[in-house]
Amino acid sequence: MPRDLAEYGKKRDFTKTPEPPPEKKAPTDKQLYFCVQKHLASHLHYDFRLEHEGVLLSWAVPKGPSLNPKDKRLAMQTEDHPFSYGEFEGVIPEGYGAGIVLLWDRGTWKPDPGFEDVSKALAKGELKLALDGFKLKGSWVLVRTRGRPGGSERDASRSWLLIKHRDSWAGELDVTAVAPLSIETERDFADVLAADNPDVWSSNRPAQGGETGAMFAKIIKRAHELRQARAEPSGTPGKAAKSAKKRAKKKPAAKRAAKK
Ligand code: MN
Repeated sequence: MPRDLAEYGKKRDFTKTPEPPPEKKAPTDKQLYFCVQKHLASHLHYDFRLEHEGVLLSWAVPKGPSLNPKDKRLAMQTEDHPFSYGEFEGVIPEGYGAGIVLLWDRGTWKPDPGFEDVSKALAKGELKLALDGFKLKGSWVLVRTRGRPGGSERDASRSWLLIKHRDSWAGELDVTAVAPLSIETERDFADVLAADNPDVWSSNRPAQGGETGAMFAKIIKRAHELRQARAEPSGTPGKAAKSAKKRAKKKPAAKRAAKK
């Protein structure tokens, strides 16, 4: 079955979201792209995306990827995303996925020998693959499960596990804690929100209570502080503004690494 972006398009109002429109990419002979986007919305999660047939296959991983082969990370398959989504970083003010998106990792991927027919592997519910990103590397597997006992049929059909295979890139390092920032811009959620509009959710925050609500409250406060530091008169720049300037001058890690 050919991939299509109808569901992606239906879920979004492109007059209100900065996310890219539902356009497929023409096939190329370039290496396949992969990325992970850290997304603070109604809950924090990591969107794991693999280029396939001009779109990005997508899974939402609540706990994020783990380098420890003992961790089986739940990955809920979501609608295919346009290829250009793979560079998106910003604020979704309202509607589906409202919140903040960071480009957490990026690179290339390829299916393992025996899994080259990716559509067939997906239909069978097992895809072994190799990642070559900045934070995630080496051998991984995506395997479909039957969902939680008592869970809905829809959940069962889209429940997968993302698991690291044992290799030299596996380990106990908590990669989401050790490397939390954007791979492209070295920003955190507050930096991204400060660059956009810290007042965007003055009335309707994507999450009000609980852990996520508290995270939003902290990030919004920090974004305001960052804005304030920048707004200080240029003759007497505060410490925060100075270091923000310094950081802005530095090239993003991804670009530095790509030059090697
Ligand atoms: Mn998401």
